Parts: sequence; structure tokens; C-alpha cells
Amino acid sequence: MEKLIIGSHVSYTKEEGMLGSVKEALSYKENTFMFYTGAPQNTFRAKIDEDKVKKAKELMKENDIDINNVIIHAPYIINLANDKDKDKYNFAINFLKEELKRAKILGIKNIVLHPGSHVGLGVEKGIQNIINALNEVLKEEGPTICLETMAGKGTEIGKTFEEINEIIKGIKNKEKIGVCLDTCHLNDSGYDITNFDELLEKFGKIIGINKIKCIHINDSKNEKGTHKDRHENIGFGKLGFQNIINIIYNEKLKEVPKILETPYISMNGGKDRTYPPYKFEIEMIKNKKFNPNLLEDIRNYNKS
Ligand code: FE
Ligand code: FE
Ligand code: ZN
Repeated sequence: MEKLIIGSHVSYTKEEGMLGSVKEALSYKENTFMFYTGAPQNTFRAKIDEDKVKKAKELMKENDIDINNVIIHAPYIINLANDKDKDKYNFAINFLKEELKRAKILGIKNIVLHPGSHVGLGVEKGIQNIINALNEVLKEEGPTICLETMAGKGTEIGKTFEEINEIIKGIKNKEKIGVCLDTCHLNDSGYDITNFDELLEKFGKIIGINKIKCIHINDSKNEKGTHKDRHENIGFGKLGFQNIINIIYNEKLKEVPKILETPYISMNGGKDRTYPPYKFEIEMIKNKKFNPNLLEDIRNYNKS
């Protein structure tokens, strides 16, 4: 039987913690998931309820979710590439240290991190700042930090495999560093994802395929090389359904967790309440058949 490790971004609340995340993942028929340990746009973090963690782990076991495939995403506002404001830079380092501790308590092995934006310092200095910060963070035993490949929006670092590799080269504890590919970002940064085997070969030569610990599965609203970073629902963007299926079912990536971060669907296309698409997208992925009525199906499902 074909083994597919697939999940999505799910919520993590102060009240329920990871237990709520597992329940949400199960409601979408996922066998893994990714969450932020609090709001992604801020760094306030609640104390972890160990009893709830135990319950979450039990629920995972009962439902064949391997915790080794579960991912934490570090908040995207911490920026390790810019050290102009030393207080901010040190805060980011300390926050990430705490995030590693939280991951350890929760039993999570992989943390996805946006490398950062140099904001005018230049790529080289930005990379050096990231290296210094990560070497500080990785002094302690703990989970692996997975650098996400970025779209190259603004002054983002990590838009090429070479940049990611420059960072890895500077890390002392290389065991504890991995990579998270993001299909939307790869496209937006200028990589051709239509021949994924070729792209993987390129990645393999520069970094090494064994470094890939997670893949974010997203379609893109924009053409290749536009550096926009706007995710689209599976099959509704410029990547297209079949190209995404080919990535998901690539033999070389069989053991790598696939995580959806596609946009929520609104009822009227406006700014009203939105609904998660994941249950429907995952069903479509498992069937390997595009559903052109997906968005309508999601709206109808949530009407009742
Ligand atoms: Fe990300
Ligand atoms: Fe991503
Ligand atoms: Zn993105």
C-alpha cells in the first residue's frame, strides 16, 4: 500500500494546546499536522499543560499519527538575519531557544524556520547573522531546525538552494539542521517545479536530499519568479493539480511529511468568516483527481 504522510497547518490554542491540534487534524483525515505554539505573528506563549500533552500523544497513538512527523512552525516575525537592533536580535535568539524547549516538552522533532530578511544589510551579512544565531540556539540538545526555502519577497534570505547551503555550511551542529521545501515559494523564487525529479537532483547536488524534513504543499497565485509568496488552493493556481500530485507522490520524498498551508475559503469571496479547505484538498489528493468544484463543495459543506 502506498504510504502518504499528509497533514496541514492546524490551530493550537491556549486552552487545548496540542490536544486541540490533533483533534483538528483528525477531523480533516490527516496523519500528521503542523502548528505554531501560539499566534504566528506574535511571541506570546502560554505555559504547556503536560496532562493535555499526554492526552494528545495518546490520541495520536490511537489514530496512527507518528509524532516524529509532526512539525512546529516558528513565528514568522522573529528575524535572525538582521542584527541592527541588538535587543531585537537577542530576543529572537532567546525566543527560538525557548521554542526548542517547548518542542522538546511536546515531543516534536522538527521546527520549521524562515531564515530571515536582511533588511538592507546585504545577503552576506544576513547569512552571517543567521549562522551566528543558529549556532547559539543549537548549543543545547533538542529538535532539528528546518530552514524553509523562501519566495524571495523583499529581502528574504533562503530564496535559492545556494543561500540555504551557505547557512548550513556555517552551522557547527549540522545534525540539527534540515530543510523545509515550500512548493509555492520554490515557484515564486524562480524554480521550475514541473520537472520535480530534476529539481530534486539539483537540490541533492547542492544540499543533499536527506536534509529535506518537511514539504509545504501549496499552489501559487503567481507565475514562476515573481517573488510574491501568495498561496493558492491545490489545483487552482499556477502550479496546477498534476504537478502538485507528482511532487506529493515522488518516490524520493515518500518518508517526508507533506503539509498544506493553502488559504481558507470565504462564503462570498469577501472578508466574512472563512473555512479550512484541508479536508477537501486531502480527499482530492488521495483520489489523485482534481475537483473543479472544490470551493463550492467547501461552501456548501459549511452552510449546513
Ligand atoms: Fe513558512
Ligand atoms: Fe511554507
Ligand atoms: Zn508562504
